[in-house]
Amino acid sequence: MSMTTAFSFSTVPSIVSEPGASLRLGQLVAERFPGIERVLIVTDPGFLRTGLVEPVRASLAGQGMQVSTYAEVVADPPEAVVQGAAGFARQQGAQLVIGLGGGSSMDVAKLVAVLAGSDQPLAEMYGIGKVSADPANKRLPLVQVPTTAGTGSEVTNIAIVTTGETTKMGVVAPQLYADLAVLDAGLTVGLPAIVTAATGIDAMVHAIEAYTSRHKKNPLSDMLARQALSLLSANLVKACENGHDLDARQAMLLGACLAGQAFSNAPVAAVHALAYPIGGIFHVAHGLSNSLVLPHVLRFNLPYATGLYAELAGIVVPHAAGSEEARAHALIVAMQQIATITGVETTLQQVGITEHDLDRLADDAMLQTRLLGNNPREITREDARAIYAAAL
Ligand SMILES: [Zn+2]
Repeated sequence: MSMTTAFSFSTVPSIVSEPGASLRLGQLVAERFPGIERVLIVTDPGFLRTGLVEPVRASLAGQGMQVSTYAEVVADPPEAVVQGAAGFARQQGAQLVIGLGGGSSMDVAKLVAVLAGSDQPLAEMYGIGKVSADPANKRLPLVQVPTTAGTGSEVTNIAIVTTGETTKMGVVAPQLYADLAVLDAGLTVGLPAIVTAATGIDAMVHAIEAYTSRHKKNPLSDMLARQALSLLSANLVKACENGHDLDARQAMLLGACLAGQAFSNAPVAAVHALAYPIGGIFHVAHGLSNSLVLPHVLRFNLPYATGLYAELAGIVVPHAAGSEEARAHALIVAMQQIATITGVETTLQQVGITEHDLDRLADDAMLQTRLLGNNPREITREDARAIYAAAL
């Protein structure tokens, strides 16, 4: 890459990475948004049950804010949830939105912040850059607080909505960038090891795919992807072995956040394109879907991305030696070993997929043209089917 190659880069203006930071969220919000009186927390029922929402609420209330909570977000949120949350925000007169949860809660929070103060219908927002820039449609201030280390949704400008039985639509717009992201490992200590592993592998995929993204790879996304992989590869197994290792947990959150910043500018590719149908049709979690196809897509890409994979091997498997091809191959093996060590499923059959499903998966994957276009190697339908067959 020549340094005179033009590129652009956007991200959230403010990030606080600090164990315990969510316990002083009220102060962090009051400092940045003086005069805010009514805030809405967007979360999911599972996280609500952990009891970790209460101290966050108390911190906001301690600064004189009225706090309402919308806790009905579900995985792969359907339009009805987004509309329900936006209606609740209007009814409560919310002046600021806080996404507190995994990718789904943060995605819903992004859309609530846009919809609550706008008369533009959600259906008109799908696509890239379709959110109204009319100053009359003002987005509410938005704060994102992730409770998993994976999606990086706290620093991306995309929200995914389930619009049909298995169909999903994305809203991609600069208005979806939060004003503030708060990374607090204290919120992630209760995550089961298997969830920690799958979401952590997803974050590593974000970094790998950003680093090899065909069109928008740039010096900033490269730097972020490398640092993300360094943090994630050094801490993923540690965080799985001891969920209360706060240092490892904080490093994972930061790694996932940096990977999110990278792929928000240098988009993900075929691993995600082939993972989406697995999630859509078989309701397999996003992180696991990616992990299942990862080594097979990397192996397919290898001849077209040898140099870049070898560079990343220098971070993930520093002891890897030999030719560029040997080191690139070591990266793939290392990613497979992480799944094996942490007990993540490694075959499609383990999640209920059979030979008969491969054609449908391949057909659906080919619809992900936006993602496939970023892949270092062109993928035909036959290639996609062969990759699924290898992953079976
Ligand atoms: Zn992902």
